[in-house]
Amino acid sequence: MACAVAPWDALRAQGSTAAGRATADSGARSAADGAGSRAVGDGTGPIDAVGLSGRPISLARVDVDELGANLRGQLILPEDAPYDDARRLWNGAFDRHPALIARCVGAADVIEAVNFARAAGVLTAVRGGGHSVSGQSVCDGGLVIDLSPMRGIRVDPARLTAQAQPGVRLGELDRECQAFKLATTLGTASDTGIAGLTLGGGMGRLARKFGYTCDNLLAVDIVTADGKLLRADASENPDLYWAVRGGGGNFGVVTQFEYRLHQFGPEVMAGTILFPFSDARRVVKAAMELNASAPDDLYLNPIFSRFPDGRYLGLEVCYYGPPAEGRRLLAPLKKAGKVVADDVDIRTYLEIQSSYDPVVPSRVAYYFKSGFLRKVTPAMVDEIVAAYEHAPPSLLGVPLIHLGGAAGRVKPDATAFWNRDAEHDLSVWASWEDASQNEKIIGEVRAFWSKLEHLTKGYYINTDTPDDERRLRETYGGNYERLVRIKTKYDPTNLFRLNANIKPRA
Ligand code: FAD
Repeated sequence: MACAVAPWDALRAQGSTAAGRATADSGARSAADGAGSRAVGDGTGPIDAVGLSGRPISLARVDVDELGANLRGQLILPEDAPYDDARRLWNGAFDRHPALIARCVGAADVIEAVNFARAAGVLTAVRGGGHSVSGQSVCDGGLVIDLSPMRGIRVDPARLTAQAQPGVRLGELDRECQAFKLATTLGTASDTGIAGLTLGGGMGRLARKFGYTCDNLLAVDIVTADGKLLRADASENPDLYWAVRGGGGNFGVVTQFEYRLHQFGPEVMAGTILFPFSDARRVVKAAMELNASAPDDLYLNPIFSRFPDGRYLGLEVCYYGPPAEGRRLLAPLKKAGKVVADDVDIRTYLEIQSSYDPVVPSRVAYYFKSGFLRKVTPAMVDEIVAAYEHAPPSLLGVPLIHLGGAAGRVKPDATAFWNRDAEHDLSVWASWEDASQNEKIIGEVRAFWSKLEHLTKGYYINTDTPDDERRLRETYGGNYERLVRIKTKYDPTNLFRLNANIKPRA
């Protein structure tokens, strides 16, 4: 991809300066053309930065100071105390050093930051909850538009809607909604941001019942590359509304999301059934048979997992119908292998929604791959199990995330999220603590993934790294050309390029 800073290249370049990583930027317009460059940190001279195309530019201090003065939030520079914390993401594999971080507290700040970015031609990352798996919400030498202080939520129980700002985390929105026994589909780790999740699609424990998060998105307020704040919904700017439901952060900076809510909870039947890895083939085949005709009320994820005492096959289960019916559905699975643990029980939805949090602590290094599976045949299960037998030790888990149901019945061209016929998302999640191992472990995970990728078509843009144009096109599928048209209309210079990038027409 022509992406200015390929995530894993930048990762390898840790330790070098922003200017050292880039070459001269002929394309990017500098706010301080001709000014002599001084090192960042002396508080007076121009600031070395990276332009849109990845080459060095310098930003005039007067322009940067003006941006800082115009923000209601804080402009954080490398010499400022909060910088080191503000530049870090959940994924500790990324140790990037932006030139400036604009902490926005409202839409007016976002407009200022976007106008600055466009005028300066500076590489720009957009950060909501900071849980980008591929590290694209921070960039070396660029501007980070950081929305993390924007945490407002308003639930309207009468209209069954919720409005939430882009710094909100899943657990916060779930909690506000559950106070009224309401919910919308969100992801499975409570600290993840709603912003990236919603724009990329949003899979979760309720997706089979209520559709993906993007299917429950009623409207957004969005600042486009020209610095205008637009509302996008079914009647106002409908092309933009269509594109932000699965097209990721390509089209602007969302400053408010509005969701459809559903009556749900507070209790569900949920938990995990654990089997020895030796029974994985039979158990996963039985699970795939059940999933092929499962009711929307069943969410059943087989997960290959490694614990300190060895490998296991877990079945993560949620069932939203009568518990007796849930137990009847699960009975054949329990006979497919030797159950070594079973904690499926009646629990609160909020408890389930934070149950995976301890497994994914922040600032450890992670690397994920993802690919959509259509019908999962017994032969495919054999292939996945055989590959997992030789999985690298860094693999935290390999889930087959249960999709379909209500999310699968939405027409592929009804929103930008194309792969509606996917029945599962095959994911590979690796984590490790020692950053010096980044390259080695990523290489091992890629080698592992290369054995399975041929089973998949398209991938989930929120849990993979967009490093391959062919896979990106499979992901946007028949929606690709329409997305290019909308991108060209709203972001003709590709200001918002640190994402699963759709390039505007020249
Ligand atoms: P950020 O890092 O803040 O942003 C990610 C990207 O989103 C940015 O690079 C930008 O392109 C875009 N973006 C963010 N905010 C805005 C905005 N306001 N306007 C425009 N663009 C914006 N996904 C699921 O669907 N289901 C899951 O169950 C799930 N589980 C996960 C568990 C963990 C532990 C993690 C780390 C991720 C998981 N994901 C899941 C993936 C998750 O959806 C993405 O990581 C998502 O991008 C996180 O959103 P964020 O706002 O925290 O990310």
